[in-house]
Amino acid sequence: MIVTRTIAETRAALRSLPRPLGFVPTMGALHEGHLSLVDAAKARSASVSVSVFVNSTQFGHGEDFAAYPRDEARDLSLLENRGVDLVFAPAAAEMYPDGFATALHLRGPLTEAYEGASRPTHFDGMALVVTKLLDIVQPDVMFLGEKDAQQLAVARRFVRDLDLPVEVAGAPTVREPDGLAMSSRNAYLTAQQRAVAPDLYRALLAGRAAAGAPAASLKDVVVAATTALLMPTLPMDAAEPVAALRGEAPPAAPRFDLDYLAIVDADTFLPQTALGPRSLLIAAARLGATRLIDNVSLFPSAYLATDATA
Ligand code: AMP
Repeated sequence: MIVTRTIAETRAALRSLPRPLGFVPTMGALHEGHLSLVDAAKARSASVSVSVFVNSTQFGHGEDFAAYPRDEARDLSLLENRGVDLVFAPAAAEMYPDGFATALHLRGPLTEAYEGASRPTHFDGMALVVTKLLDIVQPDVMFLGEKDAQQLAVARRFVRDLDLPVEVAGAPTVREPDGLAMSSRNAYLTAQQRAVAPDLYRALLAGRAAAGAPAASLKDVVVAATTALLMPTLPMDAAEPVAALRGEAPPAAPRFDLDYLAIVDADTFLPQTALGPRSLLIAAARLGATRLIDNVSLFPSAYLATDATA
């Protein structure tokens, strides 16, 4: 596996790799979710490239840029074992040298609602770094996770708007055995929060089950999912009456602080007025200081690119 640090050596090394070339952009702290994207890339490409770069421009003020988990040696060994051909792991100054002055801005609800509302500079920062990475690596196909469904839609949008010659492929969310979507940020959860965290996915599944009922409405789905999410979890509830009988204070159960739960079109992220094949059920919620996001397609295939974005 070739590891490059500079743009010049990356471009030179890529010339010798067979095409088609797959590309997986990451911020490191790799888990099976990232590695499943590598597998998806390998299945469709003659060579696979991965970037490992914690991109400052997609973190807002007060977010976890400094604390974001970093373990490059572990990441490189995981990627090598998975058969990656080239890893581009630049220093910040290689990507954003002194005097760097260019910004990229996407307008409209796709970048301003939901994740964009909570993290106003996030998608512009992501679009900037991914545009730079695509220009450096020049892959045939870029692989992104459906876990970050809005990011996937945003990437399809700017790739099309800027006529970038790359296909954007989505890959399914990889989950822990209890359903929690894998995320580098799961490492921030306390043991109690970690026990409650899978309820986010369970709530989305409750929403999907409601969508499958005859004549189900948008409201039925949102009510089913919200109720499932905000209902206290069983083990903590069971502990409460026991504590009360003993005259003790009940254990402090972590509770979700819901940021949003909505049904949107998978391409535009506009709220939908009726359930349909493009319907995604998306949610973000905080457990203490940690913000979790997740989503499910209410019907099969909503994540696939439509003609509008492919
Ligand atoms: P990140 O390193 O968090 O920027 O993520 C890099 C890529 O991995 C993005 O395309 C994510 O959507 C994807 N990804 C993150 N978590 C998962 C997961 N649990 N399953 C599938 N893909 C994921």
